Amino acid sequence: FNVPIAENEPVLSYAPGTPERDELKAQLKAFKETEVDIPMYIGGEEVRTGNKVSMHPPHDIKHCLGYYHQGDETHVYKAIDAALEAKPAWENLSWEHRASIFLKAAELVAGPYRQKLNAATMLGQSKNAFQAEIDAACEFADFLRFNVQYMTEIYADQPESAPGMWNRVEYRPLEGFIFALTPFNFTSIAGNLPSAPALMGNTVVWKPSKTAVYSAKVLMDIFKEAGVPDGVINLVYASGPVTAKVIFEHPDFAGIHFTGSTGVFQGMWKTIGENIQKYKTYPRIVGETGGKDYIFAHKSCDALAVATAIVRGGFEYQGQKCSAASRIYLPESRWEEIKGYVGAQLAEMKMGDPEDFSNFVNAVIDESSFNKLSGAIDAAKASDEAEVIFGGNYDKSKGYFIEPTIVLTTNPKYDTMEEELFGPVVTIYVYKDAEFEATMDVLDTTSMYALTGAIFSQDRYVAEMMTKRLTHTAGNFYINDKPTGAVVGQQPFGGSRGSGTNDKAGSAINLMRWVSPRTIKETF
Ligand code: GLU
Repeated sequence: FNVPIAENEPVLSYAPGTPERDELKAQLKAFKETEVDIPMYIGGEEVRTGNKVSMHPPHDIKHCLGYYHQGDETHVYKAIDAALEAKPAWENLSWEHRASIFLKAAELVAGPYRQKLNAATMLGQSKNAFQAEIDAACEFADFLRFNVQYMTEIYADQPESAPGMWNRVEYRPLEGFIFALTPFNFTSIAGNLPSAPALMGNTVVWKPSKTAVYSAKVLMDIFKEAGVPDGVINLVYASGPVTAKVIFEHPDFAGIHFTGSTGVFQGMWKTIGENIQKYKTYPRIVGETGGKDYIFAHKSCDALAVATAIVRGGFEYQGQKCSAASRIYLPESRWEEIKGYVGAQLAEMKMGDPEDFSNFVNAVIDESSFNKLSGAIDAAKASDEAEVIFGGNYDKSKGYFIEPTIVLTTNPKYDTMEEELFGPVVTIYVYKDAEFEATMDVLDTTSMYALTGAIFSQDRYVAEMMTKRLTHTAGNFYINDKPTGAVVGQQPFGGSRGSGTNDKAGSAINLMRWVSPRTIKETF
């Protein structure tokens, strides 16, 4: 299987004077000056219902970016029909043809569409230039390129044959259609959830988050230009319950590829269970869900490294990462030192519009997120068990701005040590050095999630002991680094417990979920 060796797309700097900075600024301006009109894409048709929903940057809610056309159940049915119709031709294409389409998509992402994808992500989802670049441009190109390589590794895995016979495994796509339900927080994930099953020969009905339709449209433009045939990926915007009802009652429903909240995933799993006898085949259920990701420092830690991990891991992209650091356990003997470094770093961190590239923190995605976060901050201010030690302000007059906030609690099971907030609010518990081991037990039992976690220790023996002791607390475990920023091809990403099915995004494990192998024995 001769395919290009996948390499990570280099991250551009956007420093003053660089061409990419000027190109991105020009693209942002162009997107702000013209209201976009976004149709659904069903079977290659652009579908405009006239039921238009306006889109606004979360950091500038009075500005209108344009509209998308909301659909209803008839459009979901049409999208399923289109996916089923496109399936035979798509699955019978050679794997080289499918690979080459998605490799071309990667080049479009890294090249001519780079700034369109970044600008749509920045304006639609309030991500700063660097985070848009790392997510939308680089990580999505990485997903596309690495998945092609992993696909060939899967196809190459073949059984032995005794003389007089030929055994082989055919990695068939699933029978039916795949439903991709994608989140707002990573444009790369929104692109990967439909494209990974499609690469393996499946056809897809894709519903993006309603807060990330702009970047989804740019992704769709890329798929089309790369040569993904009509009907292979169909993009629809109907309400969640309407879409779910049509999809989960359909006999050809063959799998779901999801990133989003634990509650939504569990609800869908239940519905799928209730409908199980309606389906031709057992559907594949693949989901990355919530997180309550931790940093746990031992007294031997490097205090500056811990502080940097708290600030970067907690507040990058406003904490709107499933992997974001949000519950922190620190030893009493090192607390003042770590706090000093955290305070110094926060004092330098600017918040505001992502179009000003010096702003590190931008707005959270929408009003309900703003309300949840500001409510948690108010509760901490009023609590006997917690106090706000940094930040604590919020303001929605221009956009949904929540100041990076650190809550200090005396209760290791305080609400925000357990509950996912999905925003820039981090809770710290300072443990007595003598209670180090007991605190590990508390950590293990405090949260239902197990996505990412980071431990800090300069003592290698302690690091080893913590790694063993915390085995099931995280699917991505970091030793002396922040718990965010997994790179495709380097740290396959996903968690267990309430955090998902752990089918590692951007890996052969994930792609295996989109095939149903047929073993063939031929005798001569
Ligand atoms: N892969 C990302 C990271 O490692 C997080 C993805 C997510 O938030 O779903 O930070």
